[in-house]
Amino acid sequence: MKPWEANIRKVVPYVPGDQPKGSHLVKLNTNENPYPPTPGVSAALKEMDYDLFRKYPDPASSVLVDALSEYYKVDRDEIFVGVGSDDVIAMAFMTFFNSDKPVLFPDISYSFYPVWAELFGVPYEKPALDENFKIVKEEYYRENGGIIFPNPNAPTGLYMPLSEVEDIVSHNQDSVVIVDEAYIDFGGTSALKLTRKYENLLVVQTFSKSRSMAGMRIGYAIGNPALIRALNDVKYSYNSYTMNMPSQILGAKAVEDRAYFQDTVEKIIHTREQAKLRLHELGFTFPESMANFIFASHETARAKDIYEALRQNSIFVRYFNQPRIDNYLRITIGTDEEMEALYCFLKEYL
Ligand code: PMP
Repeated sequence: MKPWEANIRKVVPYVPGDQPKGSHLVKLNTNENPYPPTPGVSAALKEMDYDLFRKYPDPASSVLVDALSEYYKVDRDEIFVGVGSDDVIAMAFMTFFNSDKPVLFPDISYSFYPVWAELFGVPYEKPALDENFKIVKEEYYRENGGIIFPNPNAPTGLYMPLSEVEDIVSHNQDSVVIVDEAYIDFGGTSALKLTRKYENLLVVQTFSKSRSMAGMRIGYAIGNPALIRALNDVKYSYNSYTMNMPSQILGAKAVEDRAYFQDTVEKIIHTREQAKLRLHELGFTFPESMANFIFASHETARAKDIYEALRQNSIFVRYFNQPRIDNYLRITIGTDEEMEALYCFLKEYL
């Protein structure tokens, strides 16, 4: 070993889902939206002034913050933006989770949380889900140095009613509670309406799912101005010019067309409800998803075998080689045609 190797930080990295290349793929593995962003986004892209590429971006992301402020009817100082919600959450870990007490997040949840906790040296505990994969709110009444959970949860898709989210927030007013709402637009009720009631609540959302802009990397948090100020202080100390200017501008455009947004979200919800029926007929069981994916297990076939057979046929779903969920597949809701290709293959295979 070289002497300098001893000083290299050892981490267990987060493993993102595959981004396979090719044009005839059915890609249902990373919860992207199968529909394009709003027509306003493509028009703005065509008209974009390339001089933007030469200059540094606006560090305050003002154009995007203004658009979000108008959309959500909150003040600008209640909004923080980052390069995808991953960036927002990483900043939040750095900013708020600095206690010797453990940060709490569900044992089956977004697999980036333990990676950040390890990276930032934060102790953590993972309260168990119940036998139906539900988050047990009372598990979050123990002493802690902060709380984060997705709602709906990932990869289960299960949604926690707002009253239970509120119970967790109100029981923990000495800690920051982060509700990661990456999938909230697919049928759930957002905790955004509680951010003025609870100073300790930070709600994080993303443009990657319901707004079809995963590639632009746009995420945001809404909460009390004191939380937002603290996040900005850390951000400016760490990566001051975070979001590129095209993302800021196109993100601002994306929130303008409410009818298109509503329409695509409704299409995905409709396809998801159809998928529940079809997958059930094929012998799958699953928790009741409120997200743009279904977390399904087959009554006889092994998830890993199904996953591999699908892959051989250019249909990509997500498989997690983890205790308790290693017989489940997470299937993103695609277009009706993509879902038909999936059912067709499964019918033959099973
Ligand atoms: N939170 C959850 C629960 C997710 O599933 C994802 C998507 N992988 C993210 C946050 C991050 O999304 P993004 O960085 O694209 O906004």
